[in-house]
Amino acid sequence: MTDVIVVGSGPTGMMLAGELALAGIDVSIVERRSTSKLVGSRAGGFHSRTIEIFDQRGIADRFLAAGQIAQTARFGTTTLDISDFPTRHPYGLALWQDRMEPILAGWIDELGVTTQFGRDVVGLMQDETGVEVGFADGGSARAEYLVGADGGRSAIRKAAAIDFPGWDATRSNLIAEVEVVEEPPPGMRQDESGVHGLALMADGRTYRVVTTEQQIGPSTEPTLAELRDALTAVYGTDFGVHSPSWISRFTDATRQAATYRNGRVLIAGDAAHIHYPAGGQGIGLGIQDAVNLGWKLAQVVKGISTPSLLDTYTAERHPAAARALQHSMAQTVLQRSDARTAAVTATVDELMSMEEPRTKLAALIHALDVAYDLGEGHPLLGRRMPDLDLDTVEGRTRVYALMQDARPLILDLGEPARIDIPRWTDRVRLVEARSAGEWVLPVLGEVPPPSAVLIRPDGHVAWVGQGDDRGLIDALALWFGPEAPAWA
Ligand SMILES: Cc1cc2nc3c(=O)[nH]c(=O)nc-3n(C[C@H](O)[C@H](O)[C@H](O)COP(=O)(O)OP(=O)(O)OC[C@H]3O[C@@H](n4cnc5c(N)ncnc54)[C@H](O)[C@@H]3O)c2cc1C
Repeated sequence: MTDVIVVGSGPTGMMLAGELALAGIDVSIVERRSTSKLVGSRAGGFHSRTIEIFDQRGIADRFLAAGQIAQTARFGTTTLDISDFPTRHPYGLALWQDRMEPILAGWIDELGVTTQFGRDVVGLMQDETGVEVGFADGGSARAEYLVGADGGRSAIRKAAAIDFPGWDATRSNLIAEVEVVEEPPPGMRQDESGVHGLALMADGRTYRVVTTEQQIGPSTEPTLAELRDALTAVYGTDFGVHSPSWISRFTDATRQAATYRNGRVLIAGDAAHIHYPAGGQGIGLGIQDAVNLGWKLAQVVKGISTPSLLDTYTAERHPAAARALQHSMAQTVLQRSDARTAAVTATVDELMSMEEPRTKLAALIHALDVAYDLGEGHPLLGRRMPDLDLDTVEGRTRVYALMQDARPLILDLGEPARIDIPRWTDRVRLVEARSAGEWVLPVLGEVPPPSAVLIRPDGHVAWVGQGDDRGLIDALALWFGPEAPAWA
């Protein structure tokens, strides 16, 4: 029996499998597609925190080399520039999803993850010891735990009877990659129905089309005829579109799973939350779900922690995604351009030129402000650890370089060093370091320098030392299991 089966080899499933493999878990991915190739280019990129997370695993350079850094956060018609933010990556990355996925696939391949393509999961059954999944071809597989990273229509979410409350669609868009007979006008057009545009792709022949339909389209696969009709309604011509390599429909339906866990079945990424792509937060949410869940699930599988640790996954990630979903609903409204919406957009744009609204909203879009509720205390508690330069006995380094193996980390920054954790050294890495840098967090600004920090594998701070080690043993036991016996 495999330890964990991940259903779906999109960004979320691959990241999660990578995290589990780094923790020494036997994990395999089952994927409905017959090959790894994504049809269509899909998402156009991701934001700062996602790049930071890749940096924590030592793979950010691979993505940066393939894409184009840019100020990716927009609200209304304003671009929210974060070049002054306290991060090594004060920007987003423009990189099509069909170019991003092979990079992740390359990484998990190095980590020994196997992906079985052409395996369409159609059902599951769980009992006290594991989960059995059934495939469309009649086969089955069993694992201790199962994670559905199988996208917005998640069969796993449905089979696990997890509620998916939210809001129905108020609009639908067609997106396609096609050839044309007539050259379309440059740029995007915005009208009372929404946004529309045709842009020439890098091959110099194919156009990427996005158009908002006049009525919400059906849930069936869209056709070329529907694309022609939708374009004609906006432009008075369909530009002779033909030879589609991809046609898809997306809507502004916004829904979030009531819980991300039912027993031994968990869900992550689009399987747990869907929203309109405006704002471009889908990939980042899934990557953050994956790094939040990965180490917790690994510890439960290894028997280090009890399954109740998995409930902190919903408790932390549900509110974080709920904020992003609310934001994307607001973005969606501003994409219409009747006179009243234009007035709201103008007001919002004015607000966005002010320092505090810009900073707060940009931090939300880039997910640099995520704060898990780990109780009262130092402002770092529950927030992402900044990537400070460090001096250690082994030389100069930086925080994220010490996190590439996805193990918990204590930085003892005191003079003299005071932290001693003999009963956790099998699970937690202790590094004595000095940091001359300022402790500046996005939105909050400068915070008091801690004397030590306990950093979880997802990069969030689980305990902050302020001159002594008060509370450290409790935090270690809470997150990384009880202390090992003295003879171990
Ligand atoms: C037009 C468009 C533009 C977008 N732009 C952006 C953007 O700019 N930035 C951004 O961050 N996000 C964007 N998004 C959203 C982003 O694409 C998704 O949020 C992201 O792909 C979610 O990743 P995932 O791994 O959770 O799910 P998916 O990428 O949907 O992957 C799910 C995988 O599961 C597989 N699968 C499904 N069912 C089964 C089954 N029963 N058995 C086995 N396998 C199964 C699927 O084949 C798929 O490979 C956009 C989306 C759209 C549609």
